[in-house]
Amino acid sequence: MSEAPDRTVTSSNAATRPRVRYVTNLREVDALDRAERSDLLPVAARYPFRANDYYLGLIDWSDPEDPIRRLVVPSLDELQQWGSLDASREATYTVAPGVQHKYRRTVVMLCTEMCGAFCRYCFRKRLFMDEADHDSLDLDTGLAYIAAHPEVSNVLLSGGDPLLMSTRRLEDILSRLAAIRHVRVVRIGTKMPAFNPWRVLDDAALRHALRRYSRPGRRVYVMAHFDHPRELTADARAGVAALMEAGAVVVNQCPIVRGVNDNGDTLGELFQRLTWSGVQPYYLFQCRPTAGNASFVVPLVEGFRTFCRARRQTSGLGRRARYCMSHASGKIAVVGLDRDHLYLRYHQAADPADEFRFMVFRRDDTAHWVDQLVPVAEGLRAPERDAADGAR
Ligand code: SF4
Repeated sequence: MSEAPDRTVTSSNAATRPRVRYVTNLREVDALDRAERSDLLPVAARYPFRANDYYLGLIDWSDPEDPIRRLVVPSLDELQQWGSLDASREATYTVAPGVQHKYRRTVVMLCTEMCGAFCRYCFRKRLFMDEADHDSLDLDTGLAYIAAHPEVSNVLLSGGDPLLMSTRRLEDILSRLAAIRHVRVVRIGTKMPAFNPWRVLDDAALRHALRRYSRPGRRVYVMAHFDHPRELTADARAGVAALMEAGAVVVNQCPIVRGVNDNGDTLGELFQRLTWSGVQPYYLFQCRPTAGNASFVVPLVEGFRTFCRARRQTSGLGRRARYCMSHASGKIAVVGLDRDHLYLRYHQAADPADEFRFMVFRRDDTAHWVDQLVPVAEGLRAPERDAADGAR
């Protein structure tokens, strides 16, 4: 395996390096020719565009199929009528503005509606859209809800990207969560180590906050989001190392995306490079049937085969990842395939009665979501569902 080209456009020295510059207007992307820009403007009018010069600098502009380009530059396919803006019905589990409680032990807070760049396949693109109706986080109500629910031991800060908040605001949230005794894990879901590693490298106060609130017995996890091995530049790896040195546990979750990481070699290389950087591959998600995402989705059977090929290229550390659908009813892992069947199991379930439920479906090589599959047998229980779980 060759070393991934280090396409960083800036040096890591904050004193000599120009600031990362954000771009929200396709007309400012010089690498696109004039005709391309004007073709893509209607796409960006529907699903906003945002990137920065560092991340755009990772693109090989001579390759129209470049995976990093596909990740952030709009494409005409997004205008196909397909999918819905809330494919996992997050509204169902919203207990206060910006606060979701789906799984017993975990509450999600949508802290911000901004990201370092906008992934074109984003499942929460509704947050960035002008016409979409959504409420901003009601932090006080969310914290009061968590305090009143002692079963909640995990809080996921998400969005948008929580590292787009000021460090002061993030630290305020971390300190208020630290005051709730039963919250043992705070997860920060962020793509900033990929989009702009200097958000971490240049901010000593952020690292200090992590050091203060990530302690034995109460940990801050950073749920990083690297989709492709080329995102793991020297600067991105330094950003990850800085997070770990500050006491955060860093894991990775990403979707399988057509044209980005939909082959076993690319995904295997990503898993390998993550583990070499000390980052555990945690979830490989099935791309949700979100509006605009038709061309990004890989069918489940192909996705599972790609996942298996990728895992074969890694050590046991890389093999800890799970391939899951974030379905409205829970996280459903794809666990097996044969000539006639696809085997799924609930990894997390909104309804405790579903937890670990094992399901067998007729194999359908075109299906991309569990709702399209025809069950052969339902209600089987995986062996690890023990009496204690059942009694809950
Ligand atoms: S970083 Fe996450 S929330 Fe932000 S655009 Fe990408 S997928 Fe969406």
